[in-house]
Amino acid sequence: MKKINLIPLLLLSIFSFSKLFSQEHKVVFSKKIFIAEDLSGTIKLYDNGVPTFTPFDKVVITEYFDSIKSKYMLDTMKIFNECWSTSKLYPYKGIDLSTMKDSIYLSLDSNDFYCSPSDYCYSPFGPRRGRQHKGIDTDLDIGDTLRTMFSGKVRYTNYVKGFGNLVIIRHLNGLETYYAHLDKILVVPNQSLSAGEVIGLGGETGNALGPHLHFEVRYKDNAFNPEKIIDVKNQKLKLTELILTSKDFEWKKQWRERKYHKVKSGDTLSHISKKYNTSTKTILKLNKNLSINSILQIGQKIRVR
Ligand SMILES: [Zn+2]
Repeated sequence: MKKINLIPLLLLSIFSFSKLFSQEHKVVFSKKIFIAEDLSGTIKLYDNGVPTFTPFDKVVITEYFDSIKSKYMLDTMKIFNECWSTSKLYPYKGIDLSTMKDSIYLSLDSNDFYCSPSDYCYSPFGPRRGRQHKGIDTDLDIGDTLRTMFSGKVRYTNYVKGFGNLVIIRHLNGLETYYAHLDKILVVPNQSLSAGEVIGLGGETGNALGPHLHFEVRYKDNAFNPEKIIDVKNQKLKLTELILTSKDFEWKKQWRERKYHKVKSGDTLSHISKKYNTSTKTILKLNKNLSINSILQIGQKIRVR
């Protein structure tokens, strides 16, 4: 019986089949995709509607994701190190975010979060006694342990008029948290901290009517409402993706604009200060020609802001 070598025949048939395939079905779409470390490769679609997916080599995938991570780390470190100062209270040279056109995206990590022991906010962010209250006041007794809300690095510690003993911590995303009126500061500038580490003891130093924590969150020196990110009552982080727009800093515009009141019959300084949510003291400061005993003239213009 004659032996037939099947191998060349097999090779020939594979060759002609693939030739046939490539002739009949052209690639109409081809795209390299990087979705995740276990899902990256080339997608091809042939004109007969058949899609194929060929994964990349592991080395290519690792290189790609490493480059993304290092770029992200570089961006992060740039934001984190920008205008770093342990001697200046506000180091960002007057950046005003109320006029910005773009949005700022910041990520927050709920695993890197510690909520202060207090679940009670008794003075919110907003106008108060003719000024902007740039943070929230929460319950904290003299000597109570105070911990940092996120991990980060201590940027500034000092006694500051109004704030009293103040600790400012900068976090990796560029946000800064302010802790004011402390009895004692237990950290030093440039100290690295994990979320929940002790930073000081509660107190009533500075402009505080009784012991409490005055807490602020700022981005590039611009304060916004801490309750945008923290649910004080439930001691939770409200979101993990924070978007800041000029709206969050609109309060700055409001306080920049001067405002006048035209005196009407029966007006007193006390009435006027209540009407504009300010104090007679502030009005007297803004109007050097007035004193507490001045008689107001109808039609007189008084600056209230
Ligand atoms: Zn306060």
